[in-house]
Amino acid sequence: MFPVKFHSFRGASILTLALLISACSTNKYAATEKIYKQKTKDFAAIISAAPPAGQLYDLANPTNQTWVGSVNFGIRKPNFVILHHTAQDSLAQTIKTFHSTKAATSAHYVISRDGKVVHMVNDYLRSNHAGVGKWGKDTDLNSSSIGIELDNNGTTDPWPDAQINSLVKLLETLKKTYNIPTANFIGHSDIAPKRKPDPNKFPWKKLALKGFGYWYDDVLQNPPVNFDGPNALKLMGYDTSDLNAAIIGFKRHFIQSDITPKLTPVDLLVLYNVYTKY
Ligand SMILES: [Zn+2]
Repeated sequence: MFPVKFHSFRGASILTLALLISACSTNKYAATEKIYKQKTKDFAAIISAAPPAGQLYDLANPTNQTWVGSVNFGIRKPNFVILHHTAQDSLAQTIKTFHSTKAATSAHYVISRDGKVVHMVNDYLRSNHAGVGKWGKDTDLNSSSIGIELDNNGTTDPWPDAQINSLVKLLETLKKTYNIPTANFIGHSDIAPKRKPDPNKFPWKKLALKGFGYWYDDVLQNPPVNFDGPNALKLMGYDTSDLNAAIIGFKRHFIQSDITPKLTPVDLLVLYNVYTKY
């Protein structure tokens, strides 16, 4: 709420009041903001309960455990950033989807084609953007990552400079604030290659040059004769339990011109080069 000085110039104060009333009555997100606040309040209550409710490790033997709160702790921080394309036609449509309890999906940030950034979930909270997926041994990427949705129809849309420039600025802040490793800027198709193709034909190289994710060098060395491509994919983080899906995920990210589930000699050169960076 802004302080309004009624004792100042009368005409101006009435005008200010009228503007304030109009701003309040036209907040089309008032209802969803109210739900957001209530949910954060509920989570705050869970966090501040001491002893925490429902966290007894041995329900059969409750007398064998007690609660003594420590004074040294912090709040858990995100350690990955996962990029998506919205597969929608506008920012407004995406916001509408992220307000639909039926869709049950969200992202921490949405970036429009013209570079406008909309923050929708506090970085410290878990947004529903990653779904079922795996990277390395991490099987709950929603808990460990920030999700960024880029407004893009996922097929014919280009990636405008304004959108990428805003993304880079946001990534700079996130990387610095949460000390996120360079390797941990990845795509939805990396962690869920069986289900997700996004972000499609994305300019990953541009991001890698700024320090977000890795890209291969201009000059590629031949891998050693015993180079194990599938194992390299696994060590990078890909879930190779479905090897074809992992290869497609890798090729969507690093090859793009061909996403067949087969590692060609050129793909192996690229894979060996990026694998040594991860
Ligand atoms: Zn996605």
